[in-house]
Order: sequence, then structure tokens, then C-alpha cells
Amino acid sequence: MTIRILPESVAAQIAAGEVVERPASVVKELVENALDAAASDIRVETEAGGQQLIRVSDDGHGIPAADVERAFARHATSKISTIEDLTHLSTLGFRGEALHSIAAVSRVTLTTRHAGESAGTQVRVEGGTVRAHRPTGAPAGTVVTVEDLFYNTPARLKFLKTTTTERRRITTMVMNYAMAYPAVRFALYHDGREVFRSYGAGGLSDVLVKVVGPETFRHMLEVQPQPPARPDLPAVEVYGYTSSPSQNRANRSHITLFVNGRVIQDASLAYAVTQAYHTLLPKGRCPIAVLMITLPPEEVDVNVHPTKAEVRFRSPDAVFAAVQRAVRSAVIDQAPVPSVRLQGFSSTHAPGWQDRRESLLRAGQRRPAARQQDLGLELETPGGYGQQGTERRRESVADDEAFVASLPEGPERPSQPRTLPMLRVLGQIGASYIVAEGPVGLYLIDQHAAHERILYEQFMAEQASRQPAAQHTLDTVTVELPLSAASLVEEHLDVLSRLGFVLEPFGGGTFRVRAVPTLLADRDPAEAVRAIVDDLESGAEPGQATLEEKISRRVCKTAAIKAGQVLSVTEMQALIRQLERCQSPHTCPHGRPTLIHISAEQLAKEFGRT
Ligand code: ADP
Ligand code: MG
Repeated sequence: MTIRILPESVAAQIAAGEVVERPASVVKELVENALDAAASDIRVETEAGGQQLIRVSDDGHGIPAADVERAFARHATSKISTIEDLTHLSTLGFRGEALHSIAAVSRVTLTTRHAGESAGTQVRVEGGTVRAHRPTGAPAGTVVTVEDLFYNTPARLKFLKTTTTERRRITTMVMNYAMAYPAVRFALYHDGREVFRSYGAGGLSDVLVKVVGPETFRHMLEVQPQPPARPDLPAVEVYGYTSSPSQNRANRSHITLFVNGRVIQDASLAYAVTQAYHTLLPKGRCPIAVLMITLPPEEVDVNVHPTKAEVRFRSPDAVFAAVQRAVRSAVIDQAPVPSVRLQGFSSTHAPGWQDRRESLLRAGQRRPAARQQDLGLELETPGGYGQQGTERRRESVADDEAFVASLPEGPERPSQPRTLPMLRVLGQIGASYIVAEGPVGLYLIDQHAAHERILYEQFMAEQASRQPAAQHTLDTVTVELPLSAASLVEEHLDVLSRLGFVLEPFGGGTFRVRAVPTLLADRDPAEAVRAIVDDLESGAEPGQATLEEKISRRVCKTAAIKAGQVLSVTEMQALIRQLERCQSPHTCPHGRPTLIHISAEQLAKEFGRT
């Protein structure tokens, strides 16, 4: 075959494939054009899932008569003129490809009147060829009607999903724009039936209620902009709503992200949202979230993908960290406030969450809670859990019963699914490892790593239920730090106090230690404070762990039973019962394994039995 240049019509159809993948892509492009034209009212109508007809009408500024036909040319745009313009883009469109592409694969009728002109224009383009162009009377604004989508590209037509699926995609698309532009009125009709409407009242919450429904919305937490983690990072503002942990879904498709008013797909940011819930969501579940991420235009490159659905960030880690921080703080700060609850009255919070909280509270508070229940009142004391737990843990040195009691028992935490098979303790090796038998072989458990994991999950759950970390108060302890460390500590007093460390600066690098997390009650407080200074110095790791997480891990590491400590069978059994119900029982919070499994087959093989 000789090499030839493709006819313009074929080239246009090929290029159109990138922009117009399905009816929803047409809706997206037309709605973006309406928004770019400063419309305050946008109406979307479809027939047969958009394949027969899509009509988008707006009251924006319209197109001057002289420009109308040119709008259909390839790379025709009024939005940028130089490549530099891309660095401070304020419009959704800029590629000048949409009208051209849509017209190449359908029959388009565009009626428009520019706000400054008295007569309107109507142009009809079929398969890329202009069929009609005439003046017409029309209200200011633009109406684009797209009929018979893909009529001349049968291959594409075949790839369309059912009408219902295409309709649903269009609905999601319109809802997304309605959320991103709450000051604009949107209405969507499928086959003449109104399926969605927003009132342009101006608040994301007004639209979100209509998108997720009032029942789900009740469980959404507001995500508020957080001050940047470090002053040298780009200003990334994250605003929106995220679900309380009880409202979760099987996949990330309910996480909707907008960057500077654009809906984007970004697996890493969706992961940041899920990650922010850490151990609060059951394994494999995802939250519902709608987040508006705003950052200086020069920090994002939107010209990565023909449909502009993906963007590239100049500092992806900073964006990741900002999203995670904002969501995490919403989840922790606004988790149901501890309150006195009358027995028999339904709680205002989701049952899952409440159950979890209560089982956690009960776990550490068995006796006091029972007493309160006699009165018909249940006092959800903030911090009570840790306090109780540790007091018992301290007695445990002498008394295994107490130690066992300090560990919330499996059956008392029914909302915690078992993550390991039931293990039977056989003994201890080297005062460091527990030997246990399970249904399918032998297990060796690192007692320190396992206890660290257990404490960490308890500590994080406590944090998430918004109980300020339980504190063990002290009177006369002071700690002296090098000046650089002291200023770091002063800077993070609030984070530290959330975690249970209450420090009073005395000047000259000296602090009075007013309280430490109860988990550390039997450790040297000055030592404990010095240990966390290391974590403050190394800072948060964007995309990996927040400072709080790091310090929490440190606290748990310090508090966990050490290698070299001889344990009784009862103690070991209690430890393992706890580990069996950890969300991530296989590693300690620092990622080291907590257990080694040797299967029955492996054993048989080693002994030459197979
Ligand atoms: P882009 O949006 O990337 O500029 P399009 O092909 O989508 O490219 O549109 C081409 C041009 O047509 C736009 O730049 C704009 O000037 C004009 N246009 C399209 N739709 C509208 C509309 N609804 N209202 C006003 N002008 C419009
Ligand atoms: Mg456009």
C-alpha cells in the first residue's frame, strides 16, 4: 500500500474518537462550553440514552454571528491564543476540538445569539459538513442539539452500552457539574422526564443532598480546608463532604474529585481519601466523598488527556497529603460527639459507627458501663477506655488476670470480624515469640510486634471516635530538650495534645510534662517525650503517614510488651485473641511481620512425609 494523507473527513472521525467516546462525553463537552460562556441556567435533554438526541441549552453569552461557523473548525477556540495561556487557564475548554469532533460523528444543530447582537444564527452540520446556515430569532444564549450520534461510525455505535447505562453516565456527569458549580441552575431530562434539578442556590451541600439523597447526606461530614502542612508547599485547598465511616461502599467509584472545577480521575487521590480512614473502614470498603480541590492553575497541567479527565500535578505528594489531611481531620473531628444517651432511644448516628464506638467503649469500661446501664443512662466518657485499660495493664505485671482484663475480649467486640483463624497457644520461645497452633499448621508470633499492632489499632480507633487520647496526668516531671527540638515541639503542641501529650513550655528548651497518653503511664515520661522528638524532626511523609500516625506508632511501640518478657499462657492467649481481631494482624504498624506461618504441608515436607 502506498502512503497517503487521509481525507479530512476520515481524519476528523478518527480524532473525534478521542474526545467523543460515548453520549456522556458529548454532554460533558457541551456543558463545559455552557459554563465557559458564563451561563447561569443549563438544561440538558436526552433521548434514548443520548444516542438519538442530546440537547444542551444555556443562557450564556452566545457566539457572535460572524464566528458561528468557525466554532466547528478543528482547533477553533476563543479561550486561549498562546501556549502560555495554558498555565493560567480559567476556562474548562481550550483545545478547540469538541464542536469539531461532535459534528464529525453526528448531526448537529447549533442555535445561538450573542448577548450584544439582536439576531441569532442557526447552523446545521452533518458528519462534518455544513448543511445550513441562516439567521434566526433566538433568546440570548446557545442551544446545541446533537442527533444520531455515531450514525456514520458503526464501529463506535457497537461499543455503546445499554440505553440505561448511557443514561446513568449522563446523569452522573450532569450531577458532577452541578456540584462543582452550585451557583448554576441545572436541569436534566431523559426522554421528557425530569431526573435531576439543582437550584443554583450556591452551596455544595444543597446540590449534594439531591445527588446522594437526604439519608446518605445525613451521614456526610464536612471537609474543611486545612492550613498547609508546610509553608513551602503549594497552597492546596480541599473542601467538600466525605461519609462517616459507617457509610461505605464496595469500590472507589463513589469518590468524586474535582480539581479547579474539573471532574478528574485520579486513582492515587482516591486512594488518599480511602487511606485517610485508615483502620476505620472495614477492609476493602471505600467512603463516599465529593471533594473540591483548588490550587494555583500553574500547579496543574490539564492538557494531558483529550477529554481532560486526567491532570498532572507539579507536586503530586503535596496534593495527596492535603487531601488525606483534610479528609482525616473531618473524619476525626466530626465523628459523633460523645454524649449521654438514653437507653431505648434511637441514636442519631449510623448504627455501624455507634456499635463500633460502643463496643470499644465497653471493652475498656466493662464495670462502669454496667453500673450506668442500671440507671438507664449510658455515659460515654471520653478517654475512659484508655484510662481503665492501662490501669489494669499496670497491675498486670503482677497479675495475669488483670492483664487479660485490660485487653478487650473478642466476644465483646462483635463488630470486629476475625481476621486470623483461632489459634491455640503452645508456649513461648526465648521470652520473645509465642508458639501457637492453628487449623492449618504452626504459627510463631512476635509478641512485641503483635502487641504494637493491637495497641495501635486501639489507639487509632480512640482517636477516630474523637475521644481525646486518654491521658495520664503528672505533677512534677520536666524534660529539657535541645532548642531546635523545643521549637518543633512548641509548634506541634496541638497535635501532641490530641495524642495525649500535654506539655507546657517553660522557656530555654524546658517543658513541664502535664500528661502523657495513658498507654505510656508506666514508662519514663521524659524518655517518652524525647522519643517523639525524633518523629517530629523527620516530619510527615507525604502520601505515607501523617505526623499523628507516626507519633501514634511511636507511642504504641514504647508501650508494647518487649521481647525478653516472660508471659504466662493466659497472657499469651489474651494477646492472640486480640490479634485475631485486628484489621491488619499480619504486620506491626511499622510494617514488620507479627507472625510466621508454617503450614502442615510444609512440616510434612520437611520431615520427608510427602
Ligand atoms: P473549546 O471549548 O475548547 O474552546 P469547542 O469546540 O468546545 O472548543 O468550542 C469552540 C468555541 O465555540 C469555543 O471556544 C466558544 O467560543 C464557542 N462556543 C461553543 N459553545 C458555546 C456556548 N455554549 N456558548 C458560547 N460559546 C460557545
Ligand atoms: Mg469546549
